[in-house]
Amino acid sequence: MARHYYIETMGCQMNEYDSDHLGRIFEDSGYLATSEPEEADFVLVNTCSVRAKAEQKALSRLGRLVALKKKNPRLLVAVAGCVAQQRGTDLLARFPSLDLVLGPREIGRFRDILRKIENDGTRLAAVDVHRAPTAFMGRFEYFQNSVKAYLTIMEGCNNFCSYCIVPYVRGRETSRSPHEILEEARNLVLQGVREITLVGQNVNSYVYEKTRFPELLQAMNKIKTLHRMRFTTSHPKDLSEELIQCFAGLEKLCPHIHLPFQAGSNAVLKAMKRGYTREKYMDLIRELREARPGIAVTSDVMVGFPGESEEDFELTLDLIRQIEFDNLFSFKYSDREGTPAARMKGKIPENQKLTRLARLQELQRGITLKKNKELVGKSIKVLVEGTSKKGQQLTGRTDTNKVVNFISDSSNINRLVNVKVKRSLFNSLWGELT
Ligand code: SAM
Ligand code: SF4
Repeated sequence: MARHYYIETMGCQMNEYDSDHLGRIFEDSGYLATSEPEEADFVLVNTCSVRAKAEQKALSRLGRLVALKKKNPRLLVAVAGCVAQQRGTDLLARFPSLDLVLGPREIGRFRDILRKIENDGTRLAAVDVHRAPTAFMGRFEYFQNSVKAYLTIMEGCNNFCSYCIVPYVRGRETSRSPHEILEEARNLVLQGVREITLVGQNVNSYVYEKTRFPELLQAMNKIKTLHRMRFTTSHPKDLSEELIQCFAGLEKLCPHIHLPFQAGSNAVLKAMKRGYTREKYMDLIRELREARPGIAVTSDVMVGFPGESEEDFELTLDLIRQIEFDNLFSFKYSDREGTPAARMKGKIPENQKLTRLARLQELQRGITLKKNKELVGKSIKVLVEGTSKKGQQLTGRTDTNKVVNFISDSSNINRLVNVKVKRSLFNSLWGELT
């Protein structure tokens, strides 16, 4: 009888890419996918530890998945991702029936590890953070049936922002060769993928021998039948003039950039070790808007960093008002064990963080609504991804990464269509095919 695997993915796009890779290895090893953990022979949870809440969620989910072994003692259970890397063998002690702890840099060895734990029942923690990025598998049916795909181009981060756990759990920056990236991209396009998002913790510090990120984008731009490319996440301090000019010169590069600013106060930015000032950040946005008028700008921001005064917070609100982001991902700062910020004085009380977050989100809500409203009456190109959550409509995205829902039959799935925007909401637009 066929064996089944179940994968649950939390966190960022890099985890999604990794889970996809793990799925292919399961399938190559004779497993079939299932969406029900109760039906699986092997369950794997791919975790995130960037904030305390994400880690707690991952551990409680892992606890519930391990408990499935009571009913099915032959079930194998693994934890992957950043919590796996951070906690390592402690997790084997904490969950006595957990079989495998797999760090993100160990995915390239998963095929052999899987065989080992299946054959001799070994319990192990594979958490070497210094391994090279996982090689492309060269499988033709990778990402089948999807019009868009993620492609990891680099792993790790060298920045050590004072609040962030990523450099400790994802290791140092290592870039994949352009040859391998382009081969993987062409392979995706051959299967029908039309939009590729290049992903990495800090994609704009990509460098492989003499190839830097702008050159990689130029090479990607030449791939025939690729309609759109995007990248995420980029760091303001590494946003070069050449990269800004890519938005002016490369027609496949979507007019959207996700550029985290984190805080609007120079004192806080310095304590975060971000390597830029609010003035520099605002200059970059101005240059981007000059290079590609209408470019959508989204960002990440944190409130309640240790020592953040009311004036510092006001400076964050002021920057948001001045830039008018299309959308913002906003977080309450949370201590991550082992980072310098966790040891800093001047911790902000939880209720104050909550109040600041609510004020910030209210401000951004108005800006997003205003920007979406400006699109009503306009005809825009949408790459159709599938049916909407409610099921009766199709859903897709504009090149500026806004979600658009509209009524149509499924023959338009995976196509680029023109939609006239009729209504705007906070998270999406609603329109009609033209
Ligand atoms: N590399 C990206 C950058 O430089 O901005 C961000 C990657 S991080 C995984 C995603 C976001 O999580 C960050 O932009 C930051 O806003 C947030 N984040 C990271 N550490 C955090 C912490 N300790 N508490 C709250 N939010 C955090
Ligand atoms: Fe974390 Fe900073 Fe690296 Fe982003 S750039 S992953 S926030 S250390």
